Amino acid sequence: MTLSSDSEAGGEDALVGNVNKLMVSPPGYSGVQRKGHLVFDACFESGNLGRVDYISDFEFDLFIRPDTCNPRFRVWFNFTVENVRETQRVIFNVVNFSKTKSLYRDGMSPVVKSTSRPQWQRLPAKNVYYYRCPDHRRNYVMSFAFCFDREDDVYQFAYCYPYTYTRLQHYLASLERRNLPYLQREQLGLSVQQRRLDLLTITNSEREKKLVFLTARVHPGESPASFICQGVIDFLVSQHPVAQILRDHVIFKVVPMLNPDGVYLGNYRCSLMGFDLNRHWQDPSPWAHPTLHAVKQLIVQMNQDPRVSLEFYIDVHAHSTMLNGFMYGNVFEDEERVQRQAVFPRLLCQNAPDFSFSNTSFNRDVVKAGTGRRFLGGLLDDTSYCYTLEVSFYSYMTAGSTAPVPYSEESYMKLGRNVARTFLDYYKLNNLIKDNIPHQLRRLHARECFCIRRTTSTSVCASWASTGRRCVCRPSSRYAFTTKWFLPRSDQ
Ligand SMILES: [Zn+2]
Repeated sequence: MTLSSDSEAGGEDALVGNVNKLMVSPPGYSGVQRKGHLVFDACFESGNLGRVDYISDFEFDLFIRPDTCNPRFRVWFNFTVENVRETQRVIFNVVNFSKTKSLYRDGMSPVVKSTSRPQWQRLPAKNVYYYRCPDHRRNYVMSFAFCFDREDDVYQFAYCYPYTYTRLQHYLASLERRNLPYLQREQLGLSVQQRRLDLLTITNSEREKKLVFLTARVHPGESPASFICQGVIDFLVSQHPVAQILRDHVIFKVVPMLNPDGVYLGNYRCSLMGFDLNRHWQDPSPWAHPTLHAVKQLIVQMNQDPRVSLEFYIDVHAHSTMLNGFMYGNVFEDEERVQRQAVFPRLLCQNAPDFSFSNTSFNRDVVKAGTGRRFLGGLLDDTSYCYTLEVSFYSYMTAGSTAPVPYSEESYMKLGRNVARTFLDYYKLNNLIKDNIPHQLRRLHARECFCIRRTTSTSVCASWASTGRRCVCRPSSRYAFTTKWFLPRSDQ
């Protein structure tokens, strides 16, 4: 098959596989392999690099391998380089991104680690250039300069901190080994390539049937979603007093990896068969989209069970052009429902300095029709809330910061922990959790202020911080909480 010159694959060749211990030496070179003839490899889990072109001893063009069965998506890369010379300086040009808008314009940079320094770090932004290139069909190219410093090290570069299927399996196995009475792990189904679709249930409660459902990694390249998801789980299974109360009153169901094949294969957006699963919620096929089909069946079944009240569905993603954490929600005719839907993101904004309410938006775009949030928003009744939780691949700004703060693996997990504890605030407001909360826990929550004057992310309103009394700011937002829903409790 010949591809036309303007093929969407972004290169003359269809890139179908990853490079496998590929040594790149100067063209025509036939001598023995020397130190400095770089060896590229992406034949490992979540690896992605389709092709390397030698430009000079110092410069290489790198091609992302498109998603399997879907050449339109080329964003995630993850590869190793070895056989380097000490002090060897190189420029790598990633030349076939499928997106033009990118956080690379705002200071994002690839992450790197090496065998002797196994902690991932972001490259300095000053070493990274993102520009429209006169070559490569005027595609956007991301170039970065790097200086190798240890001959025996294997270096690894990636779009963002990887979080593989195997890492998840190890994490879930370690949770199981703790034999926690309130945690259950089950296999909800299998992927096309027979990988596990895991479901965790976290609760103490047999009697209370309020249910929160969380999913992540429907888009496999959005690895920050896994760190958030792990943060949520870590918090919910912990001995933290808030977690204990939540487990007493709420059932949490978590599907940490909705697209295990895509994650394993190093895709950015799609499943093995090239489907963007987050556009197939309306009619998932048991053979083409088995993981999605299984999750949807479970949700539909729980929704029909009169003993269960499915109150939240949150699908976690990562965003390639925005900063901070934020949410997408649905649009409703009913103004009260609109306001009720804004409650959780507002509470989260109080708990997580990196979460932005002003970036949060409510929409009904046609292109989002097959997403989990939109589909379930139509399916579930009007006391349920469906959100997409997004987090930047790059960084966040807080109320006080002058420059963006790059996210680390830990700060992604912290956002997850903050999401989890926000459910207590929500259910306290909702009177599900009565105020017989231990004194020590009240102190933990002394930071809370339900002031809604400020719509950007902020930790605490100034009047609350200085006086310790509930602030008396007047609502000014269009989403002002005028209903009984958001009236402060009288004992505050
Ligand atoms: Zn996504």
